[in-house]
Amino acid sequence: MYDILFTGANLYHKDMTLAMNLDIAVSDGRIVEIGNNLNVKNAKRVIDVQNKLVVPTFMDTHMHIDKAFTMNNDETKSLIAACDNSNWTDAYYFDWTEEQIYDEIYRNSSKVIENCVRHGTTLVKTNLLFSKSWRTIALDVMEDLKKRYKNYCDIKNVMNYPPEYKEELIRATKEGKADFVGGYPHLCPDHELETRNCFEIAKEFDLPLDLHCDESDCINLNNFNYIIEMTRKEKMEGKVTCGHVTGLSATNIPIEMQKESIRRAAEVDMNITTLTSCNMYLMNMGRRGPTCVRQLLDANINVAVASDNIRDTFRPFGNCDLLEEGLLTAQAHKMGTTELLRKVMNMVTYNAAKNALAQDYGLDVGCRASFNVLDAVTPEDAILDQSEKLFVVKDGRLIAEKGTINREFLV
Ligand SMILES: [Zn+2]
Repeated sequence: MYDILFTGANLYHKDMTLAMNLDIAVSDGRIVEIGNNLNVKNAKRVIDVQNKLVVPTFMDTHMHIDKAFTMNNDETKSLIAACDNSNWTDAYYFDWTEEQIYDEIYRNSSKVIENCVRHGTTLVKTNLLFSKSWRTIALDVMEDLKKRYKNYCDIKNVMNYPPEYKEELIRATKEGKADFVGGYPHLCPDHELETRNCFEIAKEFDLPLDLHCDESDCINLNNFNYIIEMTRKEKMEGKVTCGHVTGLSATNIPIEMQKESIRRAAEVDMNITTLTSCNMYLMNMGRRGPTCVRQLLDANINVAVASDNIRDTFRPFGNCDLLEEGLLTAQAHKMGTTELLRKVMNMVTYNAAKNALAQDYGLDVGCRASFNVLDAVTPEDAILDQSEKLFVVKDGRLIAEKGTINREFLV
């Protein structure tokens, strides 16, 4: 007996092909059968999705959930704070109690997760902020939210280890609270030393890496090239992600220099996350254009697109909607043909899943039954039309329908 049978779907696959008019049977959280005219009498529930697009659920591989929705009304002041002082929280939260800070981060982060789910995203990699005022509260919140939303969204903590909290965070890592080792080597006086520190922790705990990298318009790829070198040295091919990498598209970068770095990145199966919308916005604060997505894709590098900041001090926009981020990416990189728009769809689905090291992902029998039914016929339509998410299914559970969350699976 199937738990749910979806009939008449158009299935979008990783090789960018579309299989039309197929039924998908779901049982015990998995896709158990795909075919024509599966027996509706075998299903506890039948949902007709005739000529609607089915894609695996979206994955947002670079967010800062804890900071989201903290944009204050004084935009100028808040942007200056963001650029001049990475510990902007200390200026704002200095007289708050621990409980008040926890409640604020909990409320804002819940809003992010629920918006992600409504828009069909069921995995988020989130960087966590540790500061004098916040201390390690964001990690506590995320651990609580991981449990509350476990049937809706897989939250993956990307943990950096500031010296002030290193001991505490290493302890938390031993307890299994870190999913990725993060870091900002490009902001450190000695980027090589910081990169080595990040790799050391990753090796010690057998964790993948996700590093912020080259968020500037400088023709200087030393940081990116060093991460590539360390990936090779530590044999971590496929397990390292660099986010931003805007140096690769710096103004007037010599084309040979760009090509050489991309060639080396491809050799170590580097994952790249482009934060298109955030980099487009921040361009005005001294140009920080998005990385060279087309050249990276042409070199067969796994590129995902993600939201980065949602209505916080770095970017006052964002809806936790990867179809929206996809449309912005398509526009920024002139990806308007059917083939290129399908590549964009892959950047929020299959490529993102590889980046997140998600298991059993896709639309084949045996995969986790995690997919979106979109009100579109093709993936390119879904991006151009910003189609409604008719059904969001995670591990066989119908967790959202037409933008409304089904709350019965909350823990
Ligand atoms: Zn970021």
